[in-house]
Amino acid sequence: MQPQAFSELRDTGIEFLDRVPWGTHMCGFYEGEQDHTHMAMAFFKAGAAAHEHCLWITDRLTPSAILAAAEQNVEIFPYTEWYRPGSAQPQFLLEQWHRKLARALKQGYAGLRVVHCGADTFLSDRAAHQARETLLERAVKNKPVIALCPYPLKDLSLTDIIELSSTHSFTFFRGGEPGHEALATANRYNMLRTATAEVIHEIRNPITAIRALMELLHTKPEFHAYSDLFGRVIDEVDRVEQLASQFLNLARTCAPPSSAGCNLNAVIDAMRPLLEASAAKREQMVCLQLSPVPDIPCRPSEARQVILNLAQNAFEAMSANGILTITTYDQYPYAVLQVKDTGSGIPPEIMAKVSTPFFTTKGNGTGLGLPVCLRILEKYGARAAIDSSEAGTTVTVTFPAADFGNSKGPR
Ligand code: ADP
Ligand code: MG
Repeated sequence: MQPQAFSELRDTGIEFLDRVPWGTHMCGFYEGEQDHTHMAMAFFKAGAAAHEHCLWITDRLTPSAILAAAEQNVEIFPYTEWYRPGSAQPQFLLEQWHRKLARALKQGYAGLRVVHCGADTFLSDRAAHQARETLLERAVKNKPVIALCPYPLKDLSLTDIIELSSTHSFTFFRGGEPGHEALATANRYNMLRTATAEVIHEIRNPITAIRALMELLHTKPEFHAYSDLFGRVIDEVDRVEQLASQFLNLARTCAPPSSAGCNLNAVIDAMRPLLEASAAKREQMVCLQLSPVPDIPCRPSEARQVILNLAQNAFEAMSANGILTITTYDQYPYAVLQVKDTGSGIPPEIMAKVSTPFFTTKGNGTGLGLPVCLRILEKYGARAAIDSSEAGTTVTVTFPAADFGNSKGPR
């Protein structure tokens, strides 16, 4: 028995949720406004009973909610006031959280219980929302604080639900319809994603070790006779490693970063030797037609991954003498990337399936190249269009520029 840890569990007041430890930052999805108020009130009621200071930071306050909050002795802080203009400094906001907790403890409360409603910001400004959630996570972690962030299901896509689930300690759903299809899918997907990603992550460690050992044996003079064999084993190990990292890319649901972005031309320039070497191996050619484009908010590694996956498909679709043309151009406020090949094209009957995970027409394909691209693009609000005929395929990707609205021009 662990009396110490046990005594730190807090009653959530929410049916079927039971108790959670201090330091929990959870996400509750609700259907109607009534579910929202019920969820928040049940949470506060349990907090008041356990002598915690209850704080409601909200951008969606209805008159009935104000009344209910007053009954439970809940302190209400309008969201816009908590994050008032000029207080955007992370340090300021973190201290604001710490001060709240310190005051509550000084007044003899057991800790702080927060309902933090940032749904409107999530929908209008992802970067600001992400920054605020990160701060809240820091304010809650290892402290006598528990936080509940409610989000309205009707405003969210399945991807939003998965993204929000992955930035909180855990997620629950509250609503009138237990068989909600999107929720059931989200739950299944989330469980599968987490379990599979963990297994694959673990598999990568021995793979890396096997590759390193194979490389070592490959260079030993006494194994020269088997050099070809070692080369083939290494190629196969690389394929497994590629499959694993593609899958992890697909499974990860981290939000777009608020800072680091890139310029497509710089990324492509850095990839030039790799692209040329891959083309030369197949007796194909690469033609780069880069014109100045505005910066995009995409991580350079992710932009590289998109270009690599598209180029790989192009190489694989072409025979000797095929030409891969990568073009960039400015269509302000968008940066456009075009990857064009002179390959066999995508037959119309399979066009609808090509972005389905694991769909492949290749004997040794993974079927993850295009899904990974789309996952990355979706994160940055970019769009991809595929145009294909028997003369070849062109994939056009349109990225919104990083500086939507201010005057930084193309590079
Ligand atoms: P993989 O390349 O491992 O098969 P992808 O997701 O990258 O997986 O591609 C899925 C399928 O889409 C391919 O198997 C192929 O049939 C088709 N495809 C994608 N890009 C092209 C292209 N440039 N030319 C012809 N077919 C393509
Ligand atoms: Mg591919």
